[in-house]
Amino acid sequence: MANYDVVVLGLGGMGSSAVYHLAKKGLKVLGLEQFTEAHSLGSSHGKTRLIRKAYFEHSDYVPLLHQSYDLWRELERESGETLLHLTGLTIFGPSNSQILTGIRKSRDLFGLDVRDVSETASQIWNPSFNVPIHFSGLEEPGAGFLEVERCVRAHLKVARRLEAELRFEEPCLSWGANQDGIWVQTKKEKISAERLVITAGPWTSQLLSALNLKLQVHRVTQFWFKGKNSSILKKVNSCFAFDMPYGFIYGFPTFSNSKELKVAIHKPGDKISDPSEVNRTLSERDHLEVSQFLREVMPEVEPTPVEGSVCLYTMTPDEHFVIDHHPSYERVSLAAGFSGHGFKFASAVGKILSDLVAEGKSLELKDFLRVRPVVLNS
Ligand SMILES: Cc1cc2nc3c(=O)[nH]c(=O)nc-3n(C[C@H](O)[C@H](O)[C@H](O)COP(=O)(O)OP(=O)(O)OC[C@H]3O[C@@H](n4cnc5c(N)ncnc54)[C@H](O)[C@@H]3O)c2cc1C
Repeated sequence: MANYDVVVLGLGGMGSSAVYHLAKKGLKVLGLEQFTEAHSLGSSHGKTRLIRKAYFEHSDYVPLLHQSYDLWRELERESGETLLHLTGLTIFGPSNSQILTGIRKSRDLFGLDVRDVSETASQIWNPSFNVPIHFSGLEEPGAGFLEVERCVRAHLKVARRLEAELRFEEPCLSWGANQDGIWVQTKKEKISAERLVITAGPWTSQLLSALNLKLQVHRVTQFWFKGKNSSILKKVNSCFAFDMPYGFIYGFPTFSNSKELKVAIHKPGDKISDPSEVNRTLSERDHLEVSQFLREVMPEVEPTPVEGSVCLYTMTPDEHFVIDHHPSYERVSLAAGFSGHGFKFASAVGKILSDLVAEGKSLELKDFLRVRPVVLNS
């Protein structure tokens, strides 16, 4: 007899949403996490994550983004927490840049509210920014940010209320599946269930070694900076991003009485072979590009950070996610390879996983996100 309908391995961004949606379907759910609740050793920490709909990475994500927004709002209602802040986001770059071209494509295909900021208007967009000459912008008023750890906690809070059992500091050491069910060996006991969901983020390759997915973990950093004067904090009241020659730099306004601006670069850093062994000491090399950006574009901000943290990206070769049934075991589903842009989708990814478990399929799951040749080592 199985103890549970479904076990979820990993309660970070995606797993916390999966346990919530599975519990909502009335299933008997066990969530297992190797660390503590909303910890800072994986990919879902650092206070904020950008969310936007005019997706330059691929316009096929837009329907999923509509659903993600709706589900974040639903989670806010059910948890009583404010998680999503629609401050607006303006992305600047050379007007022929791939990023601006991709945003325009999604905007035009889906009729999204994205406004052009001309080269001339960019120069006077905000007096605290020296927008590079010949840059233009695209402003998405409905974009903004999510409070990342609070999102994880909110999913877990409602899942618990719906009687999901959640265990922390209990890593899965191994698992197996056969025609009758699945088993999971933790450091404490062997658990049986009907089905298994693997949402192990940077540790996915260790739990799915036989599947041999082409996932590469990278060390990434995020930093917080003080203003040279206090007025700068008030003048930055929306999210911003710049497609600079040295990388895609993005930042957030302050919120909840914080006194620092978060600014970071979206760039996979050093390759990591074991996510448990990553170097978490920060050095000057980690913020070279971001500091250069602040000197050039935001001169009212101190270019030396006051706080920083190391985070992890799990990249696929085509930078699209992998969400599917396990190719060899129908009872096992997985979601991984979020390639540095997945958090905004977590609300919808948990729903997709719950549909895969309960109905065997998900109408929202597009083929370009399934297990596909490019993500499989032959
Ligand atoms: C610096 C940074 C900035 C980012 N910015 C954005 C952004 O602006 N917008 C956006 O949408 N996305 C962004 N992302 C990407 C996004 O945060 C990630 O794609 C997302 O958080 C991945 O979630 P996950 O659930 O796959 O991984 P995680 O949140 O790391 O969850 C995996 C969990 O599995 C657990 N686990 C692993 N192995 C085991 C085991 N054996 N037993 C039990 N538990 C286990 C881990 O401890 C962990 O808690 C950013 C990422 C980083 C690092």
